[in-house]
Amino acid sequence: MVKDVIKVTLDVDEVPRKWYNILPDLPEKLPPALHPATREPVTPADWEPLFPKGLIRQEYSEERYIDIPEEVREALIAIGRPTPLHRARRLEKHLGTPARIYFKREDMSPAGSHKPNTAIAQAYFNYKEGVEHLTTETGAGQWGSALSAACALFGLKCTVFMVRSSYDSKPYRKYVMKMYGADVSASPSIKTKFGQQTLATDPTCGGSLGIAISEAIETAVSNKNAKYSLGSVLNHVMLHQTVIGEEVMAQMKKIDEKPDVMIGCVGGGSNFAGFTFPAIYEKKKGNLDTRFIAVEPESVPSMTGVACGKARYEYDFGDTAGMTPLLKMCTLGHDFMPQAIHAGGLRYHAMAPTVSLLHQAGSIECEAVGQDATFKAGQMFARTEGIIPAPESSHAICSAINHALAAKKTGEKKVIVFNLSGHGLLDLQNYADMFGF
Ligand SMILES: *Cc1c(COP(=O)(O)O)cnc(C)c1O
Repeated sequence: MVKDVIKVTLDVDEVPRKWYNILPDLPEKLPPALHPATREPVTPADWEPLFPKGLIRQEYSEERYIDIPEEVREALIAIGRPTPLHRARRLEKHLGTPARIYFKREDMSPAGSHKPNTAIAQAYFNYKEGVEHLTTETGAGQWGSALSAACALFGLKCTVFMVRSSYDSKPYRKYVMKMYGADVSASPSIKTKFGQQTLATDPTCGGSLGIAISEAIETAVSNKNAKYSLGSVLNHVMLHQTVIGEEVMAQMKKIDEKPDVMIGCVGGGSNFAGFTFPAIYEKKKGNLDTRFIAVEPESVPSMTGVACGKARYEYDFGDTAGMTPLLKMCTLGHDFMPQAIHAGGLRYHAMAPTVSLLHQAGSIECEAVGQDATFKAGQMFARTEGIIPAPESSHAICSAINHALAAKKTGEKKVIVFNLSGHGLLDLQNYADMFGF
């Protein structure tokens, strides 16, 4: 039975009805966010200029399961949930590994990644509370595309600050956002005070996620009935992504498999969190004995860098200007300027507080992979499984291949499951540059 499975699907009525909240199950209490001026714990009221109350409640909630509103669930179904789990039979054969490799298809949403899972929930809670306008930042454009689409679904105006280097080199996601009706600016921009200051000191600045966040927050707080939306890092974002892992648990159960290793790439940590948190809870209850592996680029080692002193587990800002609350995270420092690596979604300077804490507590492991190996892994996956992965997802694929080759050496029939966080059809320029097409 297990041997013949190629694709595990779920019915529409198996789309999760609740999100799993890991806060009550963390090994220690999550250190509170601190106010940037007073360094006192941030209260729910402090977040209100930025987020609607429904999301703030989730940010602090200690309830293990939180109901998914029916309108959100319907929208998730409309954009393609539940997503299938595939077995990578041809990749296994190509590698000659006894391991069984599965991957969860978060590449199938209209925006091409897992990000709509939270974009839809965030747009909904804002719309419910009468917010009319959302602002955000985007790197390569995946988050901006997801939020633009979600805002269109709920009738909200959307303003996106896109990191300038991507804005110039990746026009297609900009067109996707405009297609959905968003207002898109290259960041640093002249539309905000912080953008103007940044350009005054460095007129050719290519931007960073940290700078774009500062601009989006400034725009949200200075516009009436506008709020800000973040695509990763915060607890409520991790929460919304758990539909991925809950579906995976149901899918593994259907084929009577238990994952030995679960692998996800990490930028801010949300696809990894959504994919693994429900399984981390199953492991805590004694039902699984899985290793959880977060994969980051060698050039942005926010977790792997802690061991060698390049990164630290400490309070840091989420943005460059220092406007956000301080969060306890594995961080390279909020002024970290990443190299222009080809995986825009993995360039963030820090890691979600929940994922950082799990790493510090030894509940999850991390690995760093280099750019050459990553792109080759993506190409091997395209040629064996027929799907062109996002460069971000290729980091997870690269690690999955390494684990499958290790299993070949030891002859172990390991069950390896990774999250295919997105497709790479709008990232073909990166592959072309890398391979010299
Ligand atoms: C944004 C993005 C990531 C990284 O963000 P996380 O919050 O770490 O998930 C990974 N893969 C894809 C396809 C993305 O769009």
